[in-house]
Amino acid sequence: MTRHRKRPLAERVAHAAEAVLAEQGHASFVDVLLGMGWLNPNTAAAWRRGQIECLEGAILTAPPRLAEAMRLFRSWAETKGLSASPAAYIARTPQRPPLRFSRSGDPAVEEQYRTHWISPDLPEKKRERLVEEANRPPELVVIQPLNKGWKCHRCGGTGGLLIMEPPGPACLSCAKLGDLEFLPSGNALLTRRVKAKSARTAVVVRFSKRRGRYERQGLLVEAKPLAAVMQELGLDRLE
Ligand SMILES: [Zn+2]
Repeated sequence: MTRHRKRPLAERVAHAAEAVLAEQGHASFVDVLLGMGWLNPNTAAAWRRGQIECLEGAILTAPPRLAEAMRLFRSWAETKGLSASPAAYIARTPQRPPLRFSRSGDPAVEEQYRTHWISPDLPEKKRERLVEEANRPPELVVIQPLNKGWKCHRCGGTGGLLIMEPPGPACLSCAKLGDLEFLPSGNALLTRRVKAKSARTAVVVRFSKRRGRYERQGLLVEAKPLAAVMQELGLDRLE
C-alpha cells in the first residue's frame, strides 16, 4: 500500500473510532466498521441474529484493506492508552452459539474483533458495568412476520411468531419457546418485574416498512411469573 492511500485510511479509522469512543466510552472494531460505512447496520443485526455465517462475508471492503484497518484501529487504541477487554459475542438464537467474525476463523483475528477498548477516564464503576454488559448474553429475538406464508425449517409448520436460526425460520415449538406467553409493551413496571422473575424471555419485534427497521412489540415470558406479577399489581388482564 502506498503512503498516500495509507494516510486517509488511518484518518478514517481514527475518526470513526473517536466518534464512537466519545459517544459510548468504549470502541470496538465492529463499531468502527459501522462508523466507516463498511458494515451496514441491518446486516450487522442479521449477523447478531445468526442469519449470516461470518461477519467478514458481509463487510463492504476488500480483505487486505480490512486487515489494514484492523491494524490501524488497534494501534489507535493502544496510542490512546485504552484498556482492552474481551467481549462475548453470542448469537441471538435459542442455541446461543458464539458469533464468528472472520472468514479464516483464526483465533488471533477473532480476538481482535472481540476486544472492546475502554477509556481509562471512565470511573471504575462505569468500566465494570461496560465489561459486564459486553459479556451478558443477548436477548433472544422473536419475529412477528409480515409474510404469513413462512415455513418452519424443522417441522414445515407455520405460526404467528418465528425465530431465526442459521438454516432459516423456526416455529416457537421447535425452538422450545412454545410455552411462553406474549406480554405486549406498554406497562413498564409489569414488564420489568416479570422479566426479572422469568428464567426465559424473548423480545418480540415486527418489521416496520415505513421506518425500515424492526420495532419492539413486547416480550415473551413464562406463564407462572406473569400470572404472579399480574396478581401482585392487581391486574386481571393484559392491555
Ligand atoms: Zn417447527
